[in-house]
Amino acid sequence: MERYDVIVVGGGHAGCEAAAAAARVGARTVLLTHRLETIGEMSCNPAIGGIGKGHLVREIDALDGVMGRAIDRAGIQFRILNRGKGPAVRGPRAQADRRLYRRAVRAILREQPNLTLSEGAVEDVSMGPGGGVTGVVIAGGKAIHAPRVVVTTGTFLRGMVHIGATSIPAGRAGEAPSVGLARTLQRLGFSRGRLKTGTPPRLDGRTIDWAALAAQPGDDPPKPFSYLTESISTPQICCHITGTTPRTHEIVRNNLRRAAIHAGAIEGRGPRYCPSVEDKVVRFPDRTRHQIFLEPEGLEDHTVYPNGISTSLPEDAQRAMLASIPGLERAAMLRPGYAIEYDYVDPRELRPTLETRKVSGLYLAGQVNGTTGYEEAAAQGIIAGLNAALSLGGAADFVLDRAQAYIGVLIDDLIAQGVDEPYRMFTSRAEYRLSLRADNADLRLTPRGIAVGCVGSVRASAYGRKDAALQAGRRLVAGLSASPAALERHGFNVRQDGVRRTAAQLLAHAEIDLAPLSAIWPDVGNIREDVAEQLAIEARYAVYLERQSEDIAAFRRDEALRLPESLDYGVVGGLSNEAKERLARTRPGTLGAASRVPGITPAALIALLRHVRRAPGPAPTRACHDP
Ligand code: FAD
Repeated sequence: MERYDVIVVGGGHAGCEAAAAAARVGARTVLLTHRLETIGEMSCNPAIGGIGKGHLVREIDALDGVMGRAIDRAGIQFRILNRGKGPAVRGPRAQADRRLYRRAVRAILREQPNLTLSEGAVEDVSMGPGGGVTGVVIAGGKAIHAPRVVVTTGTFLRGMVHIGATSIPAGRAGEAPSVGLARTLQRLGFSRGRLKTGTPPRLDGRTIDWAALAAQPGDDPPKPFSYLTESISTPQICCHITGTTPRTHEIVRNNLRRAAIHAGAIEGRGPRYCPSVEDKVVRFPDRTRHQIFLEPEGLEDHTVYPNGISTSLPEDAQRAMLASIPGLERAAMLRPGYAIEYDYVDPRELRPTLETRKVSGLYLAGQVNGTTGYEEAAAQGIIAGLNAALSLGGAADFVLDRAQAYIGVLIDDLIAQGVDEPYRMFTSRAEYRLSLRADNADLRLTPRGIAVGCVGSVRASAYGRKDAALQAGRRLVAGLSASPAALERHGFNVRQDGVRRTAAQLLAHAEIDLAPLSAIWPDVGNIREDVAEQLAIEARYAVYLERQSEDIAAFRRDEALRLPESLDYGVVGGLSNEAKERLARTRPGTLGAASRVPGITPAALIALLRHVRRAPGPAPTRACHDP
């Protein structure tokens, strides 16, 4: 009998992080997936990170996850997006060599103790007499046992690919959908829906007229994602930019009735912020050009991903559309674009640990919860995997709140609000974004990871060294000072008021970096680069960070008041029927979480607070994740 502590179903981005995280905290884990060679597959664009998404990758890395280390081995163009803007909204992004990325993910998983990688299509989940999960059944009828199961099946549940009038059951192009498991989730009574997403045609780079196009180089030197990577050794490439033309739009308009989405073949909703080219032409009729980034899929692969023209038009219309785009007039289409529709589970069925409320021991993570994107999937995977494993030993839940991490924002949004279109991360979703920066994810999360045992010794020591250097740096810049006259002699333009300025005060000026300060104080020159970056940001944004920490303290007061999971909302006086129904559906864990359920008014919150304070039984307790 095959027996594990944790079974992870799926080898996508959620599955890989879930399996690695569970194994890191010592659970005997198996990752079961259709094919081992598709572990770490990027179903759509060959890139990791971006604005908001890059923050998630850094947070995953801070908890010793896989994604940041893998992209550092596979990245062929690194860029910090929004570099000219404030540090809160800068987003690290990297173009990946698909093959190298898969290889890197597999290598990291293979090196992970406690983790077995295995092939098999999971058809059903088995349950014990008490209603908790006891394992899975794979195609052919073999049972595999474990008291915790994490399902991360992405777009595969009853997946249906659409190209024009053709619809093919598939989890993604060329791969069978997952129907048995979709039936299981239906049988278990989960509330489900349909969503859709799409991908563009792929091109043969040898047939593109590159000379006619604007080049877009990456950053030099490339800045790694992982806090553990010192430098990037993979060769770096250039991307190119082109755009649609009025002729492209005419072709799209003339073929709209043949596009699956507009012909009524698709019922699921797609992402508004990442529309297909058909949607762009319909929604923005006055625009004459939409930008397209031509992104090579690998160093030894001629395939090019035209980012910006995902489509479900028939193949002949896709070809005509490509021929109308500058630089692509003679481009050969290697594979047509397509739309995919799939089942998702309403994430309001989940606890903050991503365990389902209906079936104990069953966790869901990734696109199956209504999100889109590799990073969003991976972020959920790490939380689900960690909690599945930690709960076995009776350890406290590992939950990150909205003031600690974008991961916390993501999960809180999902479980409080549900989704009505594929959910993706944006920096605007985080109310404390000045504190939740991509540059300080390790400072925010690595100590928490160390405390629960999911951070290995290499990262723990690297973190310890950085933390010590940062403390020393803070002391140094606060302690060094000079008179205005001395500063002027070194070329600093300060008011001659006789007041001494510290190095920290000088750093608060946007135009002053640590480098020129080392001319006055040579010790400053010895501060390592990542620490210097932190010191400059801390000094520059001190006033705003202080103000934000007051907002965070207020947020924590509401988060500290826990609502019992068994609370009978039907008997809470002063709540409308609609509020009762919404709260009963989402079962918020705290008063703060209740305030974020759509439609819950301040009056409803007061009624709830009054009821909980009056109710017999244990007094409301502080949430376990509060510091
Ligand atoms: P996936 O990466 O889909 O992985 C699912 C895994 O589960 C696979 O390994 C599969 O083999 C396995 N599996 C499924 N069922 C079973 C089973 N029964 N038994 C065993 N194994 C199983 N994201 C964006 O951000 N932007 C986009 O533009 C975008 N476009 C997309 C277009 C298409 C056509 C597709 C398919 C996806 C697109 N995505 C896009 C989404 C992105 O690919 C996903 O968000 C991400 O891959 C989700 O990760 P995941 O781990 O949840 O699932």
